[in-house]
Amino acid sequence: MSEITQSQNDFEKAKKLIPGGVNSPVRAFKSVGGTPRFFAKASGAYVWDVDNNQYIDYVGSWGPMILGHTHPDVVKGVQETAALGMSFGAPCELEIDLAQLVIDMVPSIDVVRFVNSGSEATMSALRLARGFTGRDKFIKFDGGYHGHADGFLVKAGSGAATFGEPDSAGVPADYAKLTLTAPFNDIEAIKTLFAENKGEIACIIVEPVPGNTGVMDLMSGGFLQALRDICDAEGALLVFDEVMCGFRVGAGGAQERFGIKPDLTCLGKIIGGGLPVGAYGGREEIMRKISPDGPVYQAGTLSGNPLAMRAGLETLSRLRADGFYEELERKTTRLVEGLLEGCKAAGVPAVANQVGAMFTVFFTELDAVTCCSDVSNHCDLAFFGKFFNAMLDEGVYLAPSQYEAAFMSAAHTDEDVENTIAAAGRALAKLTA
Ligand code: PMP
Repeated sequence: MSEITQSQNDFEKAKKLIPGGVNSPVRAFKSVGGTPRFFAKASGAYVWDVDNNQYIDYVGSWGPMILGHTHPDVVKGVQETAALGMSFGAPCELEIDLAQLVIDMVPSIDVVRFVNSGSEATMSALRLARGFTGRDKFIKFDGGYHGHADGFLVKAGSGAATFGEPDSAGVPADYAKLTLTAPFNDIEAIKTLFAENKGEIACIIVEPVPGNTGVMDLMSGGFLQALRDICDAEGALLVFDEVMCGFRVGAGGAQERFGIKPDLTCLGKIIGGGLPVGAYGGREEIMRKISPDGPVYQAGTLSGNPLAMRAGLETLSRLRADGFYEELERKTTRLVEGLLEGCKAAGVPAVANQVGAMFTVFFTELDAVTCCSDVSNHCDLAFFGKFFNAMLDEGVYLAPSQYEAAFMSAAHTDEDVENTIAAAGRALAKLTA
């Protein structure tokens, strides 16, 4: 095992000062065990920890680093902009440029509002959906993550039609009751919820490529189209949370890849190129309800700040290069294929879900993983933890949970991919010896 003394010391110090030693829970490695690595620097496909261990990185800051870390043009752009002012709290022209680019790239967005995180985007989109429809309830999916606003921290109850129970202390049960939940890929559950809450459901919010349960496929069985149809029939809005899959599975996100138009779209991660940016946008008629055009309030001191806008512009504009997504997908497909071959050779049952440049390998005897309970009930989470740590020792940084996606960047080379496959082969051999 590589030397990780400095990370261990840092973690001990951080735990005294910061809850769990981290500023976002999964970083603490609780479910996989081991010491979170404290990072010192990053470049391209690699990150280095404070003990100077190098890792091939498939987390990419949980998605944003699609060009690879510290892309020279992004860094240069941010430096130039910083020298002219870090934040004005007033309009700047970079906001117009990024808004135009987002509207050009994402098919269903006519008008867009920038915020500072994915959580803010989803929270605001939900308020807007409620304000527009005059309805209070909404549907999310079991295992769908839409940031940490109160109404989203609700898991499925004992049946599809059950009212939600809060998933986090501090979420009032009365408020959580407005959150209805259903399993992915179960259209009957959705029909039941609409039938039992006639005229009360403002929207369905869905990650069109779910990544927060590990990657799921909602397209091959026609589930997303069925959601679009039922929303139209019931006068509810369809909200795509493309915070993760937006600009990831294609330049126009999942909606372009699958040819399904939501009413509202939430964006985050890649849109800020590594700086804190989120956005929500959609049909003009709906977006004009936002303050100061309309009655739905939403604001932000740092929203649209020039640094974040510039990082987003430099990143998004490079995604439109010819063949960009084909190349990402080709490398991702090869990696997934190689990892599954490695599992097979080691006698470890596994399946993978991949959409474009995001994927998850699940350690399971199932033939397919299609919903969150497949992961909770049928995946070997303990084995995942061992595999994750063995890969760290091999110099490969994966997300520290089976319920997460892995991301390919433009900076990963074929050699990185082959090295990762070889590392996984060694890790699996060690674990099954
Ligand atoms: N929606 C989705 C689909 C996400 O994956 C995330 C973050 N992982 C969020 C919303 C929340 O974004 P943020 O962490 O930027 O608040």
